[in-house]
Amino acid sequence: MNIKEHLSSLDKAGNLRRLPQIIQDGKWVIREDMRMLNLSSNDYLGLASGSDLQQEFLDICPKRDLRFSSSSSRLLTGNFPICEELEEMLSTAFGKEAALLFNSGYHANTGILPALSDKSTLIVADKLVHASLIDGMLLGSATFRRFPHQDLVRLEKILEAEASQYEKVFVVVESVYSMDGDVTDLRRLVELKSKYPNVMLYVDEAHAIGVRGKNGLGIAEEQDCIAGIDLLVGTFGKALASMGAYVACTKEIREYLVNTMRPLIFSTALPPFQWAWTAFVFSRLKDFSERRDKLSSNSSYLASALNGMGGEMSESHIVPLMVGDSAECIIRAEYLQRKGFYCMPVRPPTVPKGTSRIRFSLTANVEREELEALVDIVKTSLV
Ligand SMILES: *Cc1c(COP(=O)(O)O)cnc(C)c1O
Repeated sequence: MNIKEHLSSLDKAGNLRRLPQIIQDGKWVIREDMRMLNLSSNDYLGLASGSDLQQEFLDICPKRDLRFSSSSSRLLTGNFPICEELEEMLSTAFGKEAALLFNSGYHANTGILPALSDKSTLIVADKLVHASLIDGMLLGSATFRRFPHQDLVRLEKILEAEASQYEKVFVVVESVYSMDGDVTDLRRLVELKSKYPNVMLYVDEAHAIGVRGKNGLGIAEEQDCIAGIDLLVGTFGKALASMGAYVACTKEIREYLVNTMRPLIFSTALPPFQWAWTAFVFSRLKDFSERRDKLSSNSSYLASALNGMGGEMSESHIVPLMVGDSAECIIRAEYLQRKGFYCMPVRPPTVPKGTSRIRFSLTANVEREELEALVDIVKTSLV
């Protein structure tokens, strides 16, 4: 691989990435003195950028948790009381036997599957699962297959043909997909799974935790099927305005992961202060239904306004505007940015070739009038 040539070919194809130099101010992003509405953030409930919650937390955070490094992995000295308290909160909220914390969703997804699988394991994943899950599959020794996005008929065919040849099978999906914004029929997956004694269901709720469900517990809560999901994974870095991740599972799986999961064993745990903030936000989740409702009505508005342009794919707060060509996508995104909307072009390899798109990621701090202005500008940019 020639680094210089590779970079230049990325640049020519309009796929060269750069770290944006921006300053954030509440729901705004400022770049070179231009103020733009942030439509690229995962701060879905608006808790990280625009609420008094942080001050409230600082006022009550016990001295015990005011420590900014855990100084080791949880298996050595990094297992502070707050870690187990947060796990207890999670397992109680989800009605599961146990929960286990991780430093990030990336740690969770690259660590859980390799730990739980071997050569007699089959992993069957949706074609569009997050890169962290793909990396997890590549790190392990299981066989893996992917089914076309949301094609549960194809999934069933794979299970019918192959499940019995393996000791254990993991079906791996996300509940809300980050590029199309569509929602998975978890109930149907639970039903399907129950026909096979050796199939376990792994669901990543990164984009749905905090945002969906009456108490903000995700799509599994909304579809009333938490109990049927064997490995319920979520992250704290998006709607929960923090950092880290969890899996809700059985006690036995938790114990097995503690003994075998490399990113858990060989990485310094997040600091007590971070877990305490996460626990604080998580304990408040059920109080944010107003924010969830606003996000949901704004999302349906934008999706229907962009119907036929990508909006029709969305069933969530992530709404794509399809462009196709990467270079064109960059031009369109830059135009919207000049008009005051900070939105990003999403290009290969994040999405399949020829499906470059602008991705609007809504938060509860965005107002309807702002979206109406956005829609007007999208429409004028088309002519
Ligand atoms: C963001 C995301 C992750 C990674 O989580 P981090 O905590 O940011 O590492 C994993 N899975 C999905 C589906 C995600 O969207």
